[in-house]
Amino acid sequence: MVVKGRFAPSPTGRMHLGNVYAALMSWLFVKSAGGKWLLRIEDLDPGRSRPEYARALEDDLLWLGLEWDEGGLANRGDAGPYSQSRRSETYAEAFESLREAGRVYPCTCTRADILATQAPHQSDGTPVYGGRCRPAEMPAATPVPEPQTRHSMRLWVPDEDVEFHDLICGPQRVRLSRECGDFVIRRSDGAWGYQLAVVVDDAMMGVTQVVRGNDLLTSAAGQCHIYDLLGYARPEFGHLPLLCNEAGQRLSKRDASLDMGVLRREFSPEALLGRIAAMARLRPDSTPVSLSDLLDSFNPALLSRESNITVI
Ligand code: GLU
Repeated sequence: MVVKGRFAPSPTGRMHLGNVYAALMSWLFVKSAGGKWLLRIEDLDPGRSRPEYARALEDDLLWLGLEWDEGGLANRGDAGPYSQSRRSETYAEAFESLREAGRVYPCTCTRADILATQAPHQSDGTPVYGGRCRPAEMPAATPVPEPQTRHSMRLWVPDEDVEFHDLICGPQRVRLSRECGDFVIRRSDGAWGYQLAVVVDDAMMGVTQVVRGNDLLTSAAGQCHIYDLLGYARPEFGHLPLLCNEAGQRLSKRDASLDMGVLRREFSPEALLGRIAAMARLRPDSTPVSLSDLLDSFNPALLSRESNITVI
């Protein structure tokens, strides 16, 4: 079976070093296995996504030599469109089958309610829902909600473990109810939840390998649960250590000194690749390296297994 991997950035700002590192690792995993690499634009959140950021991220990937075989703004391939803002009907169908199976329920909690009753945070920072609107039993097929009611729809998750083997972090066992909780699959403003969209897209686009940052390791368990409910085959997962600044904080689009606009002025593509490869422990030092040399010598066993990497 041909491996198909993907990079699925949200165009909410210029990419930073952490995004580019995740893209590079995903590309190396796929290309070293002779596979195909897909680019999906995760512009689900209309308030935060901008087309100019999507164009910039494509330009930044190409500057590094990371070409995608499928997807992108030009919608190359048969499984498009490849921008989530254009895939509402596909998510609605999946939502409908979960609703008919009695797996979702309406939630009228406000953000303030959720924060007031939240359980410990998931690794990606999403609060675990405290369950105020959760029915004790699995809901029967949920009636179509009144249009005037402002509510989100949540997936009712069972008190069960999800197990999977992570290519980087090894065997995982996650208690869904405790670590993921009932997550939102449709927001109160009608926007689709990330968890539903990402599973539906990866399944419909034939993605077999998901390599990304370990802030989404717990989410992967919730996603496995959705794969199982919808009857899709799960992909293999690999969750990378997160790049952190010297204060130990995860890099974000707010770390402007490490955004691609600045990095492209300071580095050549080879110099940046060398620096990322050294941080990832693929090479002993950060001397410049070409993408093809990096691919030829790629050995995933060398990758750092720590949960964080400090930027050098
Ligand atoms: N769109 C998400 C992000 O940019 C990544 C989703 C994923 O890789 O599953 O953080």
